[in-house]
Amino acid sequence: MKTSIATVSISGNLLEKLEAIAVAGFDGIEIFEQDFIAHDGNPREVGDLIRSMGLEITLFQPFRDFEGLPPPLRAKAFDRAERKFDLMQELGTDLVLVCSSCHPQALGGIDRAAADFAELGDRAAKRGLRVGYEALAWGKHVNDHRDAWEIVRRADHANVGLILDSFHTLARKIDPETIRRIPGDKIFFVQLADAPKIDMDLLYWSRHFRNMPGEGDLALTDFMRAVMATGYAGPISLEIFNDQFRGGQPKTIAKDGHRSLVALMDDVWRAEPAAAQTGPEMPARATVGGVSFVEFATQGTEADTFEAMLKTLGFRHSGNHIAKKLALWTQGDIRIVVNRETTGYASSAYAMHGTTVCDIGLSVGDAGKAVDRAQHLGAAPFKQPIGPGELDIPAIRGLSGSVLHFVDETSGLKNVWEVEFTQNADEASDAGLKRIDHLAQTMSYDEMLSWSLFYTTLFNTQKSPMVDVVDPDGLVRSQALETPDGAFRITLNGPETHRTMAGGFLADSFGASVQHIALASDDIFTSSAAMAAKGFKPLPLSDNYYADLAARFDLDPEILARLKAGNILYDEDANGSFYQFYSRPYAGGMFVEIVQRKDGYSGYGAPNAPFRIAAQKRLMRQKGMPRE
Ligand code: MG
Ligand code: MG
Repeated sequence: MKTSIATVSISGNLLEKLEAIAVAGFDGIEIFEQDFIAHDGNPREVGDLIRSMGLEITLFQPFRDFEGLPPPLRAKAFDRAERKFDLMQELGTDLVLVCSSCHPQALGGIDRAAADFAELGDRAAKRGLRVGYEALAWGKHVNDHRDAWEIVRRADHANVGLILDSFHTLARKIDPETIRRIPGDKIFFVQLADAPKIDMDLLYWSRHFRNMPGEGDLALTDFMRAVMATGYAGPISLEIFNDQFRGGQPKTIAKDGHRSLVALMDDVWRAEPAAAQTGPEMPARATVGGVSFVEFATQGTEADTFEAMLKTLGFRHSGNHIAKKLALWTQGDIRIVVNRETTGYASSAYAMHGTTVCDIGLSVGDAGKAVDRAQHLGAAPFKQPIGPGELDIPAIRGLSGSVLHFVDETSGLKNVWEVEFTQNADEASDAGLKRIDHLAQTMSYDEMLSWSLFYTTLFNTQKSPMVDVVDPDGLVRSQALETPDGAFRITLNGPETHRTMAGGFLADSFGASVQHIALASDDIFTSSAAMAAKGFKPLPLSDNYYADLAARFDLDPEILARLKAGNILYDEDANGSFYQFYSRPYAGGMFVEIVQRKDGYSGYGAPNAPFRIAAQKRLMRQKGMPRE
């Protein structure tokens, strides 16, 4: 598989774009004419520069408003094409993209367009060039790849072929299965873009909201399955117009793009094994069976306060690491590791963020395979010196410097808690917390797509629709990712301003990290009472909230009184009900949530978020914490 990306997909000047694209591992670029024109360098130099970076120019684009014109416009269009052919030869590329005409005077007619392309094919052939025809979703007469293919078929010229673009086909809801009827050698080029499902003008949607395969809602796998079934063997190229990416980090966007292509082609091959495998062979997405542990980096009195809070939550100090300053705290199936090391990775994480989640351990079927897949998708392995008696647990770097360990059930790795930790005979303590329900990570809004792509390409996870969490001081976008059985859930939260609770946390902690962990109880009232007995102080809510709850839901007055007494929030969805209460904010805005899901409630209590956030901010203001 030859991977390629249009220069328009990346921010920066031409040089910055090319560097980011080369580092990300692409084989080639579509040179977008505007990027060339804006660059100060002649075409030969630009072509040589691109090749010196190990990239090939897979396509020159776009050539607009060519076909179906009446004289004298027709002759002018051919003259214009000849000038672009000159440029292509100087640059050193043999394929031009002609997109279907939007010219107000274009006449239409399949045979007229076919005759135009036959003549253009003759002119291209004299120079050893090729012409690819793409149906724009908003083309004046041609806006469907099936019509573009009919024109190419009737042009009947070896140097004229079809260019497919997943956006134009899928945005118009054209069945991608129709691609299977096209001979693979007449498809000259394939462009890919995904997009979120938004009901809007096609041109505006395309120019501003395209994103990487897997980041949106279009059926990219179905599209590519059909393409590969034709025997197509040309480049697979990203053509992404996206406002966020235009302002994003070129290297991150390019890396995400490459990751999305490799993952997509792996999906295609798995779904269509008869089509040639074009990407690298790698293990399938790992199925996460749950969060095995969460490790916090902390030091000094912050660490003491944190451990005191764990006690009020009902955790017991069950052991210490044999060599390092790690304490293991457990309750139900939950393991929390408190890392007080003053050297190494955790201590750098503490120096950067303050008390923070520095490591997440996930239970998977095969840890080695999980790392192998992650590396194929561009993730870096994470290694630390292994001390005597310690196990080598496979790990990778997540985004934003985080670390993910994989603990599997098939090897001895699952015994790490017995092998590496002493066993404390600490008195039993329990508040009925059973497992980790979800981890909530906060990152800047612009980074959300990178994070969701990272998780969805590595693990078997589904994305729920993005929800708006309303903070009194601004909007926070929230996207949940979860395994089909709900054993692993993570929410990605992208604040639009630093004035929100999440935005303030992000600014204080210098970059993306876990802002809260949610622990599941099977009996919220018992847990609430047990924790209160241990000195836990929940986040206090307003009386107004409970008055409104009584109006909104048909709740038993006794239940309502118990909710109010425990400062427990309540929600319902079509399936079931949800109970949640919060700790007070700790160290820079981190907090703990206790939840109970009943009868298959699948959300995260988003309708309650404005009241929870207002309560947190009230408390932080009272304490004179450095944020509104
Ligand atoms: Mg296109
Ligand atoms: Mg939550």
